[in-house]
Amino acid sequence: MRFQVNTQGHEDSIDITDQVAEAIKQLGLIDGIAVVFGLHSTIGITTLEYEKGVLQDVHDVFERLIPENAEYKHNLRGIDHNGAAHIKSAMVGTHLPVPVEEGQLVLGQWQRIVLIDFDERARTRDILVKALTSATTKP
Ligand code: ZN
Repeated sequence: MRFQVNTQGHEDSIDITDQVAEAIKQLGLIDGIAVVFGLHSTIGITTLEYEKGVLQDVHDVFERLIPENAEYKHNLRGIDHNGAAHIKSAMVGTHLPVPVEEGQLVLGQWQRIVLIDFDERARTRDILVKALTSATTKP
């Protein structure tokens, strides 16, 4: 099951929890693990409290650690200038396993599934959701 997300880049953070929940419903996953996988090398998929302050803090810390406008070998090719985005993506990871019980995502009270786009421009992102079912002899 796939869905797309439009982003603005520059650490644009999008709450994709509802789309993932809808994908689970369409897949018919009742009990197991949903793997949320982004098909890109300049995004991150993680969980966050989806709150303005947290999102600004994430942006600020990444900018401090891995500034978008610093020099990166990747940028010397002259094709794109998103060397920082590739590093941030590798740090956060582009996939997330989420437990599913009784057909519902299992998340903490403030925990949302968030796509962070580290790229240098607006993009359309493809997200794949795969279901790993639990096949056990005990409930
Ligand atoms: Zn690149």
